[in-house]
Amino acid sequence: MIGLAVYPGSFDPPTLGHLSLVARGLTLFDRLVVAVAHNSTKVTLFSLEERLGLLRESLAGYELEQVEVDSFEGLSVEYAHRRQAMALLRGLRGSSDFEYEFKLALANHHLAPGLESVFLMTDHRWLYLSSTLVKEVAAHGADITTLVPPPVVRALQAKFPHKVL
Ligand code: ADP
Repeated sequence: MIGLAVYPGSFDPPTLGHLSLVARGLTLFDRLVVAVAHNSTKVTLFSLEERLGLLRESLAGYELEQVEVDSFEGLSVEYAHRRQAMALLRGLRGSSDFEYEFKLALANHHLAPGLESVFLMTDHRWLYLSSTLVKEVAAHGADITTLVPPPVVRALQAKFPHKVL
């Protein structure tokens, strides 16, 4: 077990794939900060406050000493440096994630050589699962209860009230 890692992302909305990564990240690190990116130029379904709230509700089973939910603006490496994190935690679902994450990790290493990017392969159950997929499924009124935690099911029902999820 080693130190603190920052798990950055959009989490728009959080899925069971994200939660699985948190659980598995805690087998490697003492403490995780799940850091929601605040990017004013990126259009999101859920506001920053909503995403923070959904993550806090979904991760309420963890002690604060283990998992903290926070937001950041700008570069994840700068945020990680401020938090004195030793690593950035990211997930990989397949080769399409790999290409993007590989370049990002190289750029981040250039910017912050002391900070490692640590990747966990997705659990096979969540290989196809993304926030984008969840939003699409929810918008069409199909069942999302096996894809996202209960607080996110409720939040998506509120966003798409005319649909029966
Ligand atoms: P970003 O916009 O930064 O990619 P996301 O919220 O989409 O933010 O993802 C945050 C991190 O979680 C990324 O490293 C992504 O690969 C990982 N992730 C997302 N969904 C899954 C999943 N189903 N299994 C494993 N990792 C995942």
